[in-house]
Amino acid sequence: MRFEELPTPCYVVDETLLENNLRLLNGVIQRTGCKIVLAQKAFSMYTMYPLIGQYLSGTTASGLFEARLGHEEMGKENHIFSPAYRDDEIDEIIAICDHIIFNSFSQIEKYKDKVLQAGKKVGLRINPECSTQEGHAIYDPCAPGSRFGVTLEHFRPDLLDGISGLHFHTLCQQNADDLEKTLNAVEEKFGPWLTQMDWINFGGGHHITREDYDIPLLESCIQHMQERYGLDVYLEPGEAVALNAGYLVTTVLDTLQNGMDIAILDTSASCHMPDVLEMPYRPPLLGSGEAGEKPFTYRLGGQTCLAGDTIGDYSFDQPLKGGDRLVFGDMAIYTMVKNTTFNGMPLPAIAIKDKDGDCHIVHQFGYQDFKMRLA
Ligand SMILES: *Cc1c(COP(=O)(O)O)cnc(C)c1O
Repeated sequence: MRFEELPTPCYVVDETLLENNLRLLNGVIQRTGCKIVLAQKAFSMYTMYPLIGQYLSGTTASGLFEARLGHEEMGKENHIFSPAYRDDEIDEIIAICDHIIFNSFSQIEKYKDKVLQAGKKVGLRINPECSTQEGHAIYDPCAPGSRFGVTLEHFRPDLLDGISGLHFHTLCQQNADDLEKTLNAVEEKFGPWLTQMDWINFGGGHHITREDYDIPLLESCIQHMQERYGLDVYLEPGEAVALNAGYLVTTVLDTLQNGMDIAILDTSASCHMPDVLEMPYRPPLLGSGEAGEKPFTYRLGGQTCLAGDTIGDYSFDQPLKGGDRLVFGDMAIYTMVKNTTFNGMPLPAIAIKDKDGDCHIVHQFGYQDFKMRLA
């Protein structure tokens, strides 16, 4: 069907845009020999995994279920990190994952024999205590009191036997200059032990597919770690894989006034794009301007009872009316993986826009998807 015929609300992933991102990431793999895996927590649209697997080295997971999804749907290198593992899940995790990354020496002592016996790799997450982001404290694993990664103070060189790699994840939507800064901290603090490792994982948060991203600096950071310490280098971006590669298409249901013009959409920031409220951020909206920039400004809100369920104030060339379709951009990442049926909101359909511009619905949801999670 045509884009204009899709039911709303609907997430639409654009295959061409996704593949452009994948080509860019694959260029880094080709030029440096590093490995890049998809962090599924940002984007788990597994219909696209065969395509993603043509360009990337595999998947990484935050827990057993994501690990299973990567194993079943991409079937390439499979990594996992969790702040702590459960006894009743570890065997299955070891069976389907290649790198199991631990958050503490106590977890390593508990599980490393099993991992090594299965021929899998044991990694340790370190905390270089190098904050490179202002503002987003909830996205800063180096913030004081963080539960992520072993700090130098608690590092145990006597317990490194069997550990083949170190992992850090400290960035969020950042450029390569912040990676360079972080690597300096990693080398300064953990440099003495890097030579005895086989690999290092730079985590995610690298905004590699953003227009202003400094890819040559990223590549020189990778090459530095390869040459100086003889390490295999892994990156595990989530956002960068599907950045700007998808839309959320919605319909205006009604308009009203309360000191300003308001439009109610058949979507919800809270249910369908929760990071708009949590991050928070203002999603791009095709054909619109900032408030006051074009003649008709509206506050766009959702159908839920949450007073704060608004997406933002946007302006338009024409007044909005019921039935108008609005298309939000950059809606592939951290949307369908985080959505909810709060207020009994229906979940958006998931569709693909293929290379010819044709749209196909992959999955539609209904009342059962709301009811089945309750009892
Ligand atoms: C969230 C996360 C990623 C991916 O981060 P993006 O910001 O989506 O690139 C990678 N690794 C770990 C350990 C993470 O927690």
